[in-house]
Amino acid sequence: MKISDYSGVWVFIEQRDCNIHKVGIELLGKGREIADKLGEKLTAVLVGYNVENKAEELIHYGADHVIVVENEKLDIYMTKPYTKVLSNLVNDRKPNVFLIGATAIGRDLAPRIAARVRTGLTADCTSIDVEENTTNILMTRPAFGGNIMATIICPDHRPQMSTVRPGVMKKPEKDETRSGIIEKIDISIEKEDIDVEILSVVKEEKNKINIEDANVLVSAGRGIGKKENLHKLSELAKLLSGTVSGSRAVVDAGWIEKNNQVGQTGKTVRPNLYIACGISGAIQHIVGMEESEFIVAINNNPDAPIFEVADVGIVADANQVVLSLIDELKKE
Ligand code: FAD
Repeated sequence: MKISDYSGVWVFIEQRDCNIHKVGIELLGKGREIADKLGEKLTAVLVGYNVENKAEELIHYGADHVIVVENEKLDIYMTKPYTKVLSNLVNDRKPNVFLIGATAIGRDLAPRIAARVRTGLTADCTSIDVEENTTNILMTRPAFGGNIMATIICPDHRPQMSTVRPGVMKKPEKDETRSGIIEKIDISIEKEDIDVEILSVVKEEKNKINIEDANVLVSAGRGIGKKENLHKLSELAKLLSGTVSGSRAVVDAGWIEKNNQVGQTGKTVRPNLYIACGISGAIQHIVGMEESEFIVAINNNPDAPIFEVADVGIVADANQVVLSLIDELKKE
């Protein structure tokens, strides 16, 4: 099989309970850009049960074509049947590029598909582009503990596969005038395709704001001094209708939950306002928040690297500034 036999950019659309994960939409935005540069079609691949009604929306977000694979047994994600369905589809249709969200599901699925279709996988990409005058995709990701950014190509195999973290790519605008093709595929899932039995699904309590969805983040670093100072950051976050996140240093110290860590080994965030309080700005932290709309950094060291990505830098004691901000906001 020649490389030129492969064509099209595919995006895997992750869903749970028929709710589309935002990373799928973000990847449709990037996928559209790549497909236009390559002069190829953009296909969204939606797998599940009773999910067909979501297909139209994927076209509005940029897909030319939606492949909907439906089966009752695909209702809840399971490694084996999903891997089988998607690797068979890839072998059959031969896409040039296949993008998957680096979620718990995507990280489970992508390497298995890549191994079955005998291609490479670049995991956790932060940027994707097309190499000039070729069909090669430039897949960039942090390497060596985040100290360098490595650009990886997959010149001899297709599809070119990569996983991308939620929040890294920008969500595209919805265009309800767009039209495209919806192709429904009914497949049979045999008993031997399923090797686990789901006894129950336990949902995490959702009374907290997910930092990936927050519009405002007040982020704590080791510079706030002690865990007890966090409640002032929480108060500020509440006044701004946001929530608290933090660096790995404060997660390691047990001040905040791992779920709220920003950075390379935490989450990638893109809020409208990111207030970094006593955070030095190590590269592993920066990669998780640099795409924020507006960054305010408070640090008592004027040479702290966080100031390089900040829109507003305040050289001062972080706890004092937080108290002053709370006072000002309460006056309003
Ligand atoms: P520090 O580096 O200790 O910085 C504290 C800052 O606070 C300093 O700049 C100091 O000047 C300032 N300060 C001190 N007192 C005050 C005060 N009173 N008022 C204002 N400022 C004050 N880190 C992450 O955050 N996220 C990740 O996902 C992540 N992943 C990693 C993955 C790998 C493989 C590795 C090797 C490291 C990773 N790290 C990550 C760790 C990262 O390298 C840094 O160690 C970490 O981000 C430092 O956190 P910090 O800025 O809170 O603490």
